[in-house]
Amino acid sequence: MSYEIEKTDAEWREQLTPAEYAVLRQAGTERPGVGEYTDTKTEGVYSCRACGNELFSSETKFDSHCGWPSYFSPLAEDRVQYIEDTTMGMRRVEVRCAKCGSHLGHVFEGEGYGTPTDQRYCINSISLKLRPAAG
Ligand SMILES: [Zn+2]
Repeated sequence: MSYEIEKTDAEWREQLTPAEYAVLRQAGTERPGVGEYTDTKTEGVYSCRACGNELFSSETKFDSHCGWPSYFSPLAEDRVQYIEDTTMGMRRVEVRCAKCGSHLGHVFEGEGYGTPTDQRYCINSISLKLRPAAG
């Protein structure tokens, strides 16, 4: 798998804080309810914290009460990459940034949230950077 933005491990470690590195580059998961964007309602665009790729819009963010920021779709399908993840003994779909390959979270579907897609992109706040809309 090759990405538009490729950096060595040492370069990522230098650019990211240890907490950011653990999630983005080692597929870690933030504890629920502590992320800076869990309940954020601010209008704007959420970008990848590692490379700035625009990933999600506040328009698709919804209250899932799961403890992490949740979106019902990405800004565009080509912004993210999906990878099957069976590490927890169940089949989950990992969501990564399509530009740099950094881990963002997972996507679940058919949970009955009543969103247009019936999908929940469960994303770590620390993987994202919100740029509030002007005005
Ligand atoms: Zn990225």
